[in-house]
Amino acid sequence: MNDEQLLRYSRHILLPEIGIEGQQRLLGSHALLIGAGGLGSPIALYLASAGVGRITICDDDTVDLTNLQRQIVHRTESIGEPKAHSARVTLGSINPQVEVIAVTERVSGERLHALVADSDVVLDGSDNFATRHAVNRACIRHRKPLVSGAAVRFDGQVSVFDLRRVDAPCYACLFPEAGENEDTPCAIMGVFAPITGIVGTIQSAEALKLLIGTGELLAGRVLLIDALTMQLRTIGLRKDAACPACAKKPPD
Ligand SMILES: [Zn+2]
Repeated sequence: MNDEQLLRYSRHILLPEIGIEGQQRLLGSHALLIGAGGLGSPIALYLASAGVGRITICDDDTVDLTNLQRQIVHRTESIGEPKAHSARVTLGSINPQVEVIAVTERVSGERLHALVADSDVVLDGSDNFATRHAVNRACIRHRKPLVSGAAVRFDGQVSVFDLRRVDAPCYACLFPEAGENEDTPCAIMGVFAPITGIVGTIQSAEALKLLIGTGELLAGRVLLIDALTMQLRTIGLRKDAACPACAKKPPD
């Protein structure tokens, strides 16, 4: 690290749980972020400000006026721009040392697998079950840790699926692929602006801890947040032995 970096990250370096070594790990890490919306905004902001060396942001959407109430990485002047580009511009103004790769497409198939395989951690800030399950399957195949979050109305949930471990539950153990879970888009249900910030910020904290290798992760647990009553609850989560996504051994 040069002098500028030692200053920029000094408040991290002061923490014995992080130190120079932990900060170096962040600088050498690659995070894959799916979605640059309500959850992706705080995730991207904290990963970049904290010095994660390479951040790939995937989003096929463009910035809309209705997004700005909660998607804090975007600016009014970015309306109409691809969200991944808009996020890259904001992150560049906060921390120009971080390499941000903007992918302006809905990644799926082999492209998704290649991106997941190349990352150290995957953060899911998407808003639909099809994407969530595709990302989950890619993380299972490539044994990558998945930091998952969701927010709608005043409700949020966060969990870490540490798929580096064969005994770890996956996203589909919690929400089966064949379940009757329906997407609940913000455009219909509404969403309280700060709940996306709370959930996304917790996702960023878990990803940073995971990359540094410090603390205890929200793995095998799901954190449920009710912002209307401000009650937080944690429930345990076990691997489903019959889960079609993760129960079978991943192909070599
Ligand atoms: Zn599973």
